[in-house]
Amino acid sequence: MTKIAGAGISGLSCAAKLSESQEVTVFEKSKDLGAKFGQSVFAVRAYNTQKDFNEELKEIGFKNVSLYPIYTSKKFSPSLNCQTLKSKKPLFYNVLRGKSSESIEANLYERCKNNGVEFIFGKAADFEDVDVIATGARDVKITGLGEAPYSRVGSGTAGDYPCKFGYGANFVDASIENNTIYIFYDMNYAPQGYLYVAPFKESVTIASVGFDVSKFKEMPKIFGKALKENKILSEIIDGATELSHFSYISDYFLPKTAIIKGKYYIGEAAGFGEASKGFGFRYALLSGYFAANSILEKYDYDQLWKNSFLQELKEGLKARSMIQKMTNQDYESLIAIYKNIDNLQDYMKKKSRIFNL
Ligand SMILES: Cc1cc2nc3c(=O)[nH]c(=O)nc-3n(C[C@H](O)[C@H](O)[C@H](O)COP(=O)(O)OP(=O)(O)OC[C@H]3O[C@@H](n4cnc5c(N)ncnc54)[C@H](O)[C@@H]3O)c2cc1C
Repeated sequence: MTKIAGAGISGLSCAAKLSESQEVTVFEKSKDLGAKFGQSVFAVRAYNTQKDFNEELKEIGFKNVSLYPIYTSKKFSPSLNCQTLKSKKPLFYNVLRGKSSESIEANLYERCKNNGVEFIFGKAADFEDVDVIATGARDVKITGLGEAPYSRVGSGTAGDYPCKFGYGANFVDASIENNTIYIFYDMNYAPQGYLYVAPFKESVTIASVGFDVSKFKEMPKIFGKALKENKILSEIIDGATELSHFSYISDYFLPKTAIIKGKYYIGEAAGFGEASKGFGFRYALLSGYFAANSILEKYDYDQLWKNSFLQELKEGLKARSMIQKMTNQDYESLIAIYKNIDNLQDYMKKKSRIFNL
């Protein structure tokens, strides 16, 4: 019998695999599944990865997950100079979160229920009493910035690690090209980060992701300004219906081990987040599966996650240290350099040359 704290992506992934062979109980402090995310669209990176994410899902037995492939990315400089990249293979797979029947939570929850997993909602887990910690981003204590515009989602206390944060909204019926993601680089709208527009069928999430924590408190204002002032964004949301908005903050770090006092830490609770863009979804899903396999088969959990994605996390940290210094002028220059490259292979070659400088 295994007890898991947290029914987010990593906890559900772990429970789904474990419950094929043993009894599992999951404690979730929210009253509902996916309550935190509303109907958010998440983008899972599919370019420059060792395996196609869809294939990876099948290999680890995750079936019928609804994925929305992205074949075109449009990147905009602060002056809205645009670089369009097209690919025959998906650049991203977008997934839906939250409670709708097509969401990843719904898919994993159904699998868990079919295997007899017991869920206890509305109850924060006692960490002493569980085997797996899947509680997501840790509480981040930020001092001197006044009232924080975010809901605390994690548990435990973060140290002095760098933070990423986001503020965004979920829409339906926005005007956006099919299978296309939009990324805007502008420090005024996304401090040291980027603003993205990610579709999943008729759902669209627009969010500003920042890495300059001194701007964190201003995010609602900054995001509102972006929607109003950026003419491409205002066209996208013209006539759309806003369903919900969200904000979050979390820290990121590279753990030496993700087993602490005999407990398995998975997903963001373990620190698994890619530092250049803030991706964490795939690592949450995989680490949940790896922890389950370790419990069932006595595999070395640390070895499994390190073999799978440690290198990606390290590269993300390296890229972040460079991106952290970027200015709007740098983004103008970069988009101008990339502008005439429209295929992924040439883009990756040029990109790594520039970032290696
Ligand atoms: C708004 C937003 C947008 C994002 N967009 C992307 C994206 O586009 N692509 C990408 O790759 N990544 C994205 N990320 C990061 C990604 O969502 C996370 O890395 C991933 O969800 C982590 O999964 P997790 O299981 O660790 O945590 P979560 O999915 O956050 O789940 C943690 C769960 O634990 C519960 N919990 C917390 N404390 C307790 C407790 N004490 N007891 C019981 N339950 C508890 C919470 O209520 C929650 O349900 C985004 C994150 C956010 C917040």
